Amino acid sequence: MAAAYDSNNIFAKILRGEIPCKKVHETAHSLAFHDINPLSPVHVLVIPKGPYVGFDDFSAKASNDEIADYVKAIGDAARKVGVDADGYRLLSNCGANANQEVPHLHVHIFGGRVLGRMLK
Ligand code: 5GP
Repeated sequence: MAAAYDSNNIFAKILRGEIPCKKVHETAHSLAFHDINPLSPVHVLVIPKGPYVGFDDFSAKASNDEIADYVKAIGDAARKVGVDADGYRLLSNCGANANQEVPHLHVHIFGGRVLGRMLK
């Protein structure tokens, strides 16, 4: 079971406009922005706007509208930053064993170069 949501996490602050981000794409339920410490030429994070720690509580509690919006936002963000032609990697660290640093669900989009077998 996912931990309780901490509304002081850094992505919650980005959503509230308390700290800036380099926005890529925004929808009713999702936001995509560039990672502050990119690990590949293109490194974008896509987050739901709702208070979800990781995939576990998102998949259990989010509405179908939020889930559909989020999945579409990931694909749309990838196209916006131009990684769709050559390919890209999606990754989401969820929970302690995955070393999730920010406790708000996020999917990483890595692209812009040939990627090794593992990233992050
Ligand atoms: P995780 O390890 O939780 O999967 O990844 C968290 C990601 O959030 C890291 O890649 C890290 O660089 C990124 N990150 C942490 N703080 C900020 C921030 O303030 N702004 C942005 N844009 N990215 C951040």
